[in-house]
Amino acid sequence: MKIKRIMVAGGAGFLGSHLCELLLERGHDVICVDNFFTSQKSNIEKLLQRPNFELIRHDITTPIALEVDEIYNLACPAAPGHYQYNPIKTMKTSVLGAINLLNLASECRAKILQASTSEVYGDPEVHPQREDYRGAVNPIGPRACYDEGKRAAETLFMDTHRMKRARVCIARIFNTYGPKTHPFDGRVVSNFIRQALADEPITIFGDGSQTRSFCYYTDLIDGLVRLMENEDKDFVGPVNLGNPNEFTVKELADLVWELLGKEPKYVFKELPVDDPCRRQPDISLARAKLGWEPKVQLREGLTKTIEWFKTIKLDEYRAPTPNY
Ligand code: NAD
Ligand code: UDP
Repeated sequence: MKIKRIMVAGGAGFLGSHLCELLLERGHDVICVDNFFTSQKSNIEKLLQRPNFELIRHDITTPIALEVDEIYNLACPAAPGHYQYNPIKTMKTSVLGAINLLNLASECRAKILQASTSEVYGDPEVHPQREDYRGAVNPIGPRACYDEGKRAAETLFMDTHRMKRARVCIARIFNTYGPKTHPFDGRVVSNFIRQALADEPITIFGDGSQTRSFCYYTDLIDGLVRLMENEDKDFVGPVNLGNPNEFTVKELADLVWELLGKEPKYVFKELPVDDPCRRQPDISLARAKLGWEPKVQLREGLTKTIEWFKTIKLDEYRAPTPNY
């Protein structure tokens, strides 16, 4: 196997830190680049001892010069409460970050992967979502800084591909969860587990009938690496990566209580503006092109995630924003 120099932007975050770990296990040299907006060093603490791991504190809205063979761009706040905190910075991270990392990829002839999102489909009228669906995004709503930023980044990636300036690929990631999610990210899985463990009522936004399809992180990381390592030069995506099993938010909450063996308690709050009603990936393309499909189902993944939450000390986590 060829040892590669791999940059993971956003490498200290939830997905990024797991990705760094897998790439190190495979024997590669890994450079983690992160500004620690929504993460902290404890996520990568164990990796710092490894001779083939390097950490650079850097914000991708400004250029960086490195010699690398591959770049994974995961740097972007991902939870609604995080990306809406400073929406203009979120847009800059997606757009200027993509420009800077695409320039770097062109300069060192590296292949570059963009962590895009199911949010490019907005509140979808088509169900399940295939990659050729163009989406229904509100360009002026509170989610737009993230959705439109990610859409613009996809545009930059595709134009770079058409101009043959770099080898690119785009993954559209659907809701992913697991150990090392930030306990104060305000996302549904972390909120529900944190609240239920503390015997607090689970906060359900709206009536809980909105759906999401939850992917365990091991499956997702496997998909990202398969996409990066895919040798078909004409296949750049975008490709959906997510678990196609769809659940209502209320079903997720019920499962959390069931796994903890506790009596369910709920409090219902207003549904956030533009919160998508339904979301489910069509993963036919990933199956066909990458031979990929998720293996871990929600009950198993949630059990492991709950076990992890039981091991952490919440007072050792800095809430990135007040929105959780
Ligand atoms: P995360 O917040 O845990 O990780 C993002 C990382 O990027 C953090 O370490 C953060 O500090 C860093 N970062 C943010 N802005 C930066 C900047 N300007 N410069 C350098 N670093 C910066 O989130 P995650 O869930 O691990 O998501 C990783 C990527 O995957 C994101 O791009 C996100 O949009 C995408 N994604 C995630 C999901 C999901 O469900 N987890 C779904 C769709 C897309
Ligand atoms: N949600 C909820 N209670 C919470 C957090 C989220 O009911 O404490 C809902 C939210 O309204 C959305 C779904 O769960 O319908 C997923 O929210 P999350 O922020 O995790 O991700 P996204 O909306 O980006 O898919």
